[in-house]
Amino acid sequence: MPKTYDAIVVGSGMTGGWAAKELTEAGLETLVLEAGRPITTADYVEHVPPWQMRFRGLDDRKKRMADQPIQRECYACDEWSSKFFVNDHDNPYTTEPDKPFLWLRGRQVGGRSIMWGRQVYRWSDLDFEANLKDGIAVDWPIRYADIAPWYDHVERFIGISGEKLGLPQLPDGQFLKPMALNCGEEVVRDALAKHWPGERVLTIGRCAILTEDHNGRSACHYCGYCERGCVTLSYFNSINATLPVARQTGKLTLRPFSVVHSLMYDKKRNRVSGVRVIDGETKHAIEFRARVIFLCASTLESARILLNSATPDFPNGLANSSGELGHNVMDHIMGGGANGKITAPADKKPVGRRPNGIYVPRFRNLAGGPKSTFLRGYGYQGGAGREGWGRGADLPGFGADWKKALRDPGDWSFGLYGFGECLPNHNNYVEIDKTKNDAWGIPVLKIHCTYGDNEWALMKDASIAAAEMLAAAGAREITPYIDHNPPGKAIHEMGTARMGRDPKTSVLNARNQAHDIPNLFVTDGACMASTANQNPSITYMALTARACDYAVGAMKRREI
Ligand SMILES: Cc1cc2nc3c(=O)[nH]c(=O)nc-3n(C[C@H](O)[C@H](O)[C@H](O)COP(=O)(O)OP(=O)(O)OC[C@H]3O[C@@H](n4cnc5c(N)ncnc54)[C@H](O)[C@@H]3O)c2cc1C
Ligand code: SF4
Repeated sequence: MPKTYDAIVVGSGMTGGWAAKELTEAGLETLVLEAGRPITTADYVEHVPPWQMRFRGLDDRKKRMADQPIQRECYACDEWSSKFFVNDHDNPYTTEPDKPFLWLRGRQVGGRSIMWGRQVYRWSDLDFEANLKDGIAVDWPIRYADIAPWYDHVERFIGISGEKLGLPQLPDGQFLKPMALNCGEEVVRDALAKHWPGERVLTIGRCAILTEDHNGRSACHYCGYCERGCVTLSYFNSINATLPVARQTGKLTLRPFSVVHSLMYDKKRNRVSGVRVIDGETKHAIEFRARVIFLCASTLESARILLNSATPDFPNGLANSSGELGHNVMDHIMGGGANGKITAPADKKPVGRRPNGIYVPRFRNLAGGPKSTFLRGYGYQGGAGREGWGRGADLPGFGADWKKALRDPGDWSFGLYGFGECLPNHNNYVEIDKTKNDAWGIPVLKIHCTYGDNEWALMKDASIAAAEMLAAAGAREITPYIDHNPPGKAIHEMGTARMGRDPKTSVLNARNQAHDIPNLFVTDGACMASTANQNPSITYMALTARACDYAVGAMKRREI
């Protein structure tokens, strides 16, 4: 008889790593199925200098264009880190010609936790209550008080550096000491505090990077290229933190090269009984069984698995009696901002490569404050730096004087880059494209997604407000802009199996459990009923840990 595991987790990325840790620590025999290859810290290349790279860091652009025409749109997909992004030919998807969507993905043990930007911001009740107050989509079935202890739990384990601010819209967490602002950033921070006291705040980014040794991992040494890995385990990813803990329990079986095709459904018991897998190397079909299944394959992949698991009882996708599976795709809109030159101490320059920037939390449409013409809000990431070698092409002159001038640091510049909320919209959706399969013969997704007027209004306002703040800080040569990025580019895709109170209008309940099938949990970004404007991964991780706790209890009580 094939072994029946207590739990199967699909995916070993940000959320799969957490599910593996929590379930194994609770004593469950857990099988983690990961589509991609295994990697170890030996794959990390953050300390490889450009002169040791074949193309000196300028990349093999012909190959990148041929193999990864979509992935190369991500800033992190360079000569070092492109190996952590998928091959676009093996992993295709389709879109309508006038609705581009950039689906940026990692397929290896650790998923995109290897290359992520590590920015972590809690949500508040401003976010969890927004759908209800605005009468948009469905109300979140949870509030901040439900998730706050799980934010604590996750933050204590992974280690977050940041500054406490006491802002209701951006709750403080369990922080290690913050990284320092540089003196250019202090100039802008002080200007915001002077012109918008209590309203606009500039702080150092809250990030999943250690500023102190923590849980057996070392403090960061500011080498600065975290998307290439980290041999000192100083930033959080599944390889550095969650999977080793899961392995230590003796309860983990991790199977790379296991591409989950679909789930098996036992109609009599109304339970998922296991998964159908295509072996990534041999392409043979295999099956695995478990008492409970956690989908952590990422927002769009988890939806794809459920849509490919249709049965006569669920003809439009498993656990889809609501008809909402695949719908309400969202991604933060990003790119409204401004740059300028600021006046800061000319005898100082940043030292080291601090792997973090600044953050300006949302200040529009706060509870009890003035209302804008648009809904919701945005926050900024960015920072100050001094111009360096890169300005060579613009610097007049030649010879020894020119070289010397280039060696001296140039002007201080400052940039603010907005990330705005994306409203849920039933008409943004994914479906199975029956005309196309991936390299493992599995039908692919067709993605239909565009931003609406509210998202663009947010970016317009973010651009104007950024220029206004730079002006208040005495900046020169201020350049406001709006990048017209397609959805997907922020790499914060969410929705597709939203949580909600009513099984008629949502796929998952308040515990990330399918309304239709009690032993099925989806805990990646698919579960999100709205996006807020904060980077979402910490919320996925907290929801995953919370759902695991509930599932373990329900199994003990023999409810599932
Ligand atoms: C460059 C970059 C910067 C980012 N910066 C930030 C940031 O600063 N803050 C933030 O909050 N977020 C950030 N993100 C987003 C963040 O990485 C994701 O939100 C997060 O990784 C999602 O976690 P996940 O577990 O859902 O998916 P992933 O981490 O993508 O993991 C999914 C895993 O499932 C596997 N899988 C997929 N399909 C199957 C299948 N059919 N069978 C088996 N396995 C499968 C994949 O191979 C992968 O390993 C960034 C992402 C990138 C790429
Ligand atoms: S900057 Fe810090 S966290 Fe990033 S790779 Fe270097 S040591 Fe690791």
